[in-house]
Amino acid sequence: MRFVGLIILTVGIATLVMVYRLPLLIFLLSFEGTPNLEPPSDKEQGRWVDDYYTVQSIDDRTIAIGEPRYWQANYSYLIMGSDSAILFDSGPGVRNIEPLVRQLTPLPVTVISSHLHYDHTGNNHRFNSKAMLDIPMLRQQAHLGKIELSASQHLGENEGFAVPALEVNHWWAPGQLIDLGQRQLEVISTPGHTPESIMLYDTDQQQLFSGDYIYEGPLFGFLPGSSLPDYLRSAEQLIGKIAATTIIYSAHRSASNGIPLLGYRDLTDLRDTLLDIRAGTVTGDSYYPRIYPVNEKMKLYTDVPWLVNWETIGSP
Ligand SMILES: [Zn+2]
Repeated sequence: MRFVGLIILTVGIATLVMVYRLPLLIFLLSFEGTPNLEPPSDKEQGRWVDDYYTVQSIDDRTIAIGEPRYWQANYSYLIMGSDSAILFDSGPGVRNIEPLVRQLTPLPVTVISSHLHYDHTGNNHRFNSKAMLDIPMLRQQAHLGKIELSASQHLGENEGFAVPALEVNHWWAPGQLIDLGQRQLEVISTPGHTPESIMLYDTDQQQLFSGDYIYEGPLFGFLPGSSLPDYLRSAEQLIGKIAATTIIYSAHRSASNGIPLLGYRDLTDLRDTLLDIRAGTVTGDSYYPRIYPVNEKMKLYTDVPWLVNWETIGSP
């Protein structure tokens, strides 16, 4: 009888752990806090503008702003036309980015984040003009021009960043062309990492600004709102849309120096990995999150594969 009780208890605990695996993982991570800033490297390819930020020109209208001392090595992009500019991502807010942006351009700047995680939205409040992806999920969350984020949309509490209410002045729809004056950028909805993830695509210059959907290092496809079916659909959509010579400017770097760049091939490798996961022809490492190698630059971290419902329709 005691043996049966033990089995029931074990099965009960295992079921609870399985059901609450994601909040449990986030709870465990919350004990980690923010690692200290790395010392500034004198080998950095970007130019140090102070003791924290680096800048590196992509061309005379596009600048990468790096935070190589922050443990996630974030990259935000200042994308300029002849009349106005976009700041794509604003970093975790460890340091105010606005004075640097003002130094770099006299143009009016609109900030938009690739998604709502804390390390991409931390300085949005410092700009007057703030855009947001126009999808039902975010429209429904907006009240009086502000979006109260949930803790699981923001994830910043682990590092001591309070969950903000983000102001919105402009709603940009998926597929919309944003005219900066002699330069247009297309807003592309790319759910996968999170439902509201976007990229910006400069068709003329074949530049794709990718956020956290793809970058060198561990790709997180198991976070709150992450979806492998969405990840796959976004990859297929992008592969059908962008030119094969497109350069991808991503939001984090790990091993490389300077701006974290990827290419079309990295996108097709990611698509192929997702197809293999769906087909069950790759097993991956570890149990949760499950880790699949994509290529020499990337790994994809996912939910437990047998719990993924590949039939689900995209969330936004
Ligand atoms: Zn993210």
